[in-house]
Amino acid sequence: MKYISTRNHAKVVSGAQAIAQGISEDGGLFVPSQLPHYAYSDLQALAGSSYQERAVKILKDFLPEFSLDELRQAVELAYGNHKFSGEHPAPLSLQQKKHLNMYMLELWHGPTCAFKDMALQLLPHLLTSSLRKTGCDKTAVILTATSGDTGKAALEGFKDVPGTKVMVFYPQEGVSPMQKLQMVTQEGENVAVCAVQGNFDDAQTGVKSIFTNDAMRKQLEARNAVFTSANSINWGRLLPQIVYYFSAYCDLMATGEMDYEGETINIVVPTGNFGNILAAFYAKEMGLPVGKLICASNSNDVLTEFIRTGVYNRNRPFHTTISPSMDILVSSNLERLLYHLTGGKADQVRQWMQQLAQQGYYRVDPETMQKITDLFWAGSCGDEDTLKSIREMYQVENYLCDSHTAVAVHVYEEYVKATGDSQTPTVVVSTASPYKFPESVLCAITGKQSEGEAIPLLDALSALTGTAVPEPLHRVREKAVRFSASCAPESMAEVVLATLG
Ligand SMILES: *Cc1c(COP(=O)(O)O)cnc(C)c1O
Repeated sequence: MKYISTRNHAKVVSGAQAIAQGISEDGGLFVPSQLPHYAYSDLQALAGSSYQERAVKILKDFLPEFSLDELRQAVELAYGNHKFSGEHPAPLSLQQKKHLNMYMLELWHGPTCAFKDMALQLLPHLLTSSLRKTGCDKTAVILTATSGDTGKAALEGFKDVPGTKVMVFYPQEGVSPMQKLQMVTQEGENVAVCAVQGNFDDAQTGVKSIFTNDAMRKQLEARNAVFTSANSINWGRLLPQIVYYFSAYCDLMATGEMDYEGETINIVVPTGNFGNILAAFYAKEMGLPVGKLICASNSNDVLTEFIRTGVYNRNRPFHTTISPSMDILVSSNLERLLYHLTGGKADQVRQWMQQLAQQGYYRVDPETMQKITDLFWAGSCGDEDTLKSIREMYQVENYLCDSHTAVAVHVYEEYVKATGDSQTPTVVVSTASPYKFPESVLCAITGKQSEGEAIPLLDALSALTGTAVPEPLHRVREKAVRFSASCAPESMAEVVLATLG
């Protein structure tokens, strides 16, 4: 299995190189040159296996240079009981009052209570092995700017992993009280967290300039270290996400819900950077029987417009919403989709990406547009409808969902209204615990604005609904604040060097 850059055919690397390197020198993203194919008999075999076994099988097909033992160990470390609560890291929950045929795929039973754990618990093991396999014996310094969920999941994933250090910068006024508390109480010997006096863009720009700064690279070399990134352009973050789509289908086979060859499911994904839904696309291309891939956006609806019209246009106002992890105007992983849909026309992809960088928009050709229309359906959901959707799911289905998941539920309902397709079993991806965004969930249920400190909000939500606060969030109250420093955007590089010593 080889990987190629979306912007240059000549750039061919192994899976380990793709993961170790993160992004290609030409600015392109690494994609597999061909996909393994799963027949019905393969799905039947997987249906009889555990999540961990399903993960090992799929990872092995994409990373042949990794040994089975290596992958088994990585998967056990990532998804074992000590990391994920319950028997199953990614269980399905059936809704059956109003939303017949709707299954919630809960991806938030990991240590940070958001779906980024599914990839970031595994990535550190894939990354350290990949560095070793590519002959790199340096310390990997993971530098991340975060608007909330990624930072905490990266900290928790890389915590005390030998050969790595992880540093997270978050905007001082730009994350929720819970997200902030989770980060400043982070444990581990190799972690550091610092607030940036500015917004997410300031933090992001600071990190990017550190990555591309020659003087900084030399400083790291002197310390026998290299910078790497844990964001979702890394193939090592996408690959673990393919697993749970197969797993969901296999769970439905195991319980007899899906009982004949080729029976399809729809998949609805609350989308920001297009990573999670791209993994579902890969699963479909690999032979998983998927009908429509339904892309749900909040009021930053750049992807909805793209999927409906073929025009990607980032020249639009940026909205701050109650589903902040989807507040994104440039969805990086879309580049991988375009590469595959054009049949690997790297020159064409490079040209669209250049146009996006220079003019802020591009339009795909009619042939590509037809493929997008066949595969996807898209819709968006503003904050009002998000709150309504949380409330209705709670009142009708007795199911508590967070603001990101609620966007997906709303868009699924729009899809059913628009197409009449209410029969196909549908997997709605649930990306965060409701306790991760308690202010929005409380507001939706009580109709009153809820603000203030994180812990009282958790307790209020628990008292109101009679549900338990997830262990990792409950334990935050016992933890000491370890990282209270903040810095100006200009001094982020100094903070990095001071931390590395
Ligand atoms: C990151 C995130 C998303 C968006 O996922 P993408 O892969 O960026 O599309 C949705 N919901 C939550 C809770 C997230 O943390």
